[in-house]
Amino acid sequence: MKFSELDLPANILKALKKMGYEEMTPIQEATYPVIFAGQDLCALAETGSGKTAACAIPLIQKVDPALNAIQGLVLVPTRELCMQYMAEIEKIASTTHVIPYAVYGGFDKKIQIAKLKQEVHILVATPGRLIDLLYDGILSFAQVKCAILDEADELLKVGFLEDIEFILSCILHEHQTLLFSATMPDDIKKLAHDCLRDPQHISLITDRVAPESIEHYFSYTHPKQKQIELIKYLEGEDINQVLVFCNARHMVDSLFRSIRKDLRDIDYMHAGLTQDKRSATIEKFRSGKLRYLIASDVAGRGLDFSHVSHVINWDFPRDGEQYTHRTGRTGRMGRKGKAFTFVSKHDLPSFRKLIRSRKITPCWIGKDPLCENNTPQDRRTQTRKRTFRPRPAEGSKKTE
Ligand code: AMP
Repeated sequence: MKFSELDLPANILKALKKMGYEEMTPIQEATYPVIFAGQDLCALAETGSGKTAACAIPLIQKVDPALNAIQGLVLVPTRELCMQYMAEIEKIASTTHVIPYAVYGGFDKKIQIAKLKQEVHILVATPGRLIDLLYDGILSFAQVKCAILDEADELLKVGFLEDIEFILSCILHEHQTLLFSATMPDDIKKLAHDCLRDPQHISLITDRVAPESIEHYFSYTHPKQKQIELIKYLEGEDINQVLVFCNARHMVDSLFRSIRKDLRDIDYMHAGLTQDKRSATIEKFRSGKLRYLIASDVAGRGLDFSHVSHVINWDFPRDGEQYTHRTGRTGRMGRKGKAFTFVSKHDLPSFRKLIRSRKITPCWIGKDPLCENNTPQDRRTQTRKRTFRPRPAEGSKKTE
């Protein structure tokens, strides 16, 4: 269905057109009537599905710009998501008089307070800073019409349950609440039960398999050879942007130091950097000024880098969930993407579990460690293949 088939105000349609949004994504089509009608919603949906705009469009429509008060409240788990959400609302609202604003930790509170005292209609926030501001007596929720909990499972993972319950308890009057989550464990069900009023349930995740737009390559490599192998792999690829994940901050630092001589337009990001530096790096990457970004999982969740062609797992991910979130930074909105993961000997049990649980058909670059028929001759042949564009191992099917 096209946005033009909805009864949207002309100025919002114009903004959407400018953003290149013509067809609605499935989540947008499914949730728009519910949100617009003012019903509570519990939606199972992942990032990359277009859920930000799914909320932002009807939310902007609900705001009365003549009323100087917070009318929409969005809670997200991280600063990066906060900024990303804010950026999407800003674009959609660019042709209206609706004023969105984002508050998060690590940014000067005085500046945030000054802005909040002027005029804000939609507030996007991380729970910690929002509670700070509530205690300071800066905020009034008396006019909030709609509260959104985005990435609710992540919000709870970082221990925000009590904070969320406290924040929602500050909205004393009847209002609409929308909850979005990529998974629905028991604590989310409880949160939904406690906070939502007769909600509509919408699920757009049928099975948590890896997206079909991603091809999954693996390389069984000795840790000391990883850098050489990675450079060889990248040389043989048609690259747009590459996101490289490490499991720890110190790995990000040390990989950046050693690989920067081989790759140009590269930077790094992890939670140990200042907020300013993180934001600047995200912006540089998003605008295409960086080709390579080495990151810890700070960048893995939710962030939308739509031009990432390759995701590299320098370190094997902790579990299937982390693999899906990392590799989900590529293959966005139906574009093709490639994931390339280094596997060491001690990762093999996790590797087996991963491909079983996520229904991944692996393509090995070089030796397949699970294939007992790997003779020395095979290994040499396969190793030589590494310098060329990788092909799926024989008998294996691409997840296309
Ligand atoms: P999200 O799941 O909200 O992070 O969105 C993922 C990506 O989809 C973002 O880059 C959005 O700009 C893009 N997007 C959202 N809705 C649409 C749409 N209807 N048409 C095209 N792109 C969209």
